[in-house]
Amino acid sequence: MEDKVTIERALEILHSHPLLSTKETIPIIDAHNRILAKNVHSLVDNPPFDNSSIDGWAVLTSDDPQKRVESITIFAGDSPPEPLQPGQAIRIMTGAPIPPNADALVMVEDGLHGEARNNFIRYRGENIEKGTIALESNSLLTPSSLALLTSIGHSTVSVFTQPSVSIIPTGDELVSPGEHLEPGQIYESNSISLAALVRRAGGIPNIVKSTKDDLNSLREIFDQCAESSDLILTSGGVSMGDHDFVRKLLVEEGEPLFWKVRMRPGGPPIFGLWKGTPILGLPGNPVSSYVVFLTLVVPWLSHPDLFYKKIRARLQSPLKGAKGKTTFRRIKIQSSDELLASSLTHQGSGNILSMVAHDALSVLPPNTNGEVGELIDALWLID
Ligand code: AMP
Ligand code: MG
Repeated sequence: MEDKVTIERALEILHSHPLLSTKETIPIIDAHNRILAKNVHSLVDNPPFDNSSIDGWAVLTSDDPQKRVESITIFAGDSPPEPLQPGQAIRIMTGAPIPPNADALVMVEDGLHGEARNNFIRYRGENIEKGTIALESNSLLTPSSLALLTSIGHSTVSVFTQPSVSIIPTGDELVSPGEHLEPGQIYESNSISLAALVRRAGGIPNIVKSTKDDLNSLREIFDQCAESSDLILTSGGVSMGDHDFVRKLLVEEGEPLFWKVRMRPGGPPIFGLWKGTPILGLPGNPVSSYVVFLTLVVPWLSHPDLFYKKIRARLQSPLKGAKGKTTFRRIKIQSSDELLASSLTHQGSGNILSMVAHDALSVLPPNTNGEVGELIDALWLID
């Protein structure tokens, strides 16, 4: 088991157990936010024929504009008309095919004798030619990319199947929402954020709660989840505590691959395999589990565009970094002449309000603080 790995190394190890591997073909209408599983080529030229981008007349540039005589009208959906004869102007609507011979268009606003211009012709294949790659494998399917796929002749698309993800919160202090809190207990909230994150990531979450936080109960749940899911996410129980059973179980009976990542918050994640199924033990602190999901799980399970944009922002408040660790402080981005970043609440990793009050994470390299006025890297979260 590797110890105290960098984020890059952690991702390398995670990626060697790919979650996006099986593929399915689905109708394009159902493919929003899915991830493309192979390169997609255009089946047609787009546009498929020369056509008009305006309402007006199709003409010959060499004709005298004053002597133009209007002939027929062609509409979008009509098949191409007979070739244009010298002196003729064919009335044409947006999207209609350009008549053979015509080399320019006159806008309806300019009148029949107006200026002839060829920049109103949308030439066959000028957007994309038949056979070229329109979208590359691993692209996130957005509304516009779905429209593109359709416009180049596809009705179905090959995407990665949605990984099923078991989410196992651990800790005897945890109580389900709506129940009464006894002294020493807190509400269990990580499974809620993790389920929402998994859903956004394109996975299918399944929350599995243990009645007791001990080795035997966890072992049973791990066995069951290894059978039923592609990935197991646990929360809590991965640090140095006497009751940190996730770590204990994975180290003693599973195949641990790394423990601890050089990041703050979220230092103690543990990763390995349980009966062949990848299992990532997230820290219990609510901010830590969230931040580890964003930094380690998103690039592995999903597509970053669903979660954040990488930006540079100018700091308005100082940020404390950490020795040997990348620091993800919560910051609020304000869009002015440039992006400005401020921190507003206390940054404890138990303070989930800090995730709500802010909308971005700093990415401070190890051993650096963020000084006021400095430009820093950040992840602007889509929440
Ligand atoms: P642990 O990683 O188990 O040491 O937990 C770290 C802190 O996070 C403790 O204060 C726990 O009570 C808290 N915690 C652990 N799991 C959860 C959870 N599922 N929801 C909310 N807080 C949690
Ligand atoms: Mg615990």
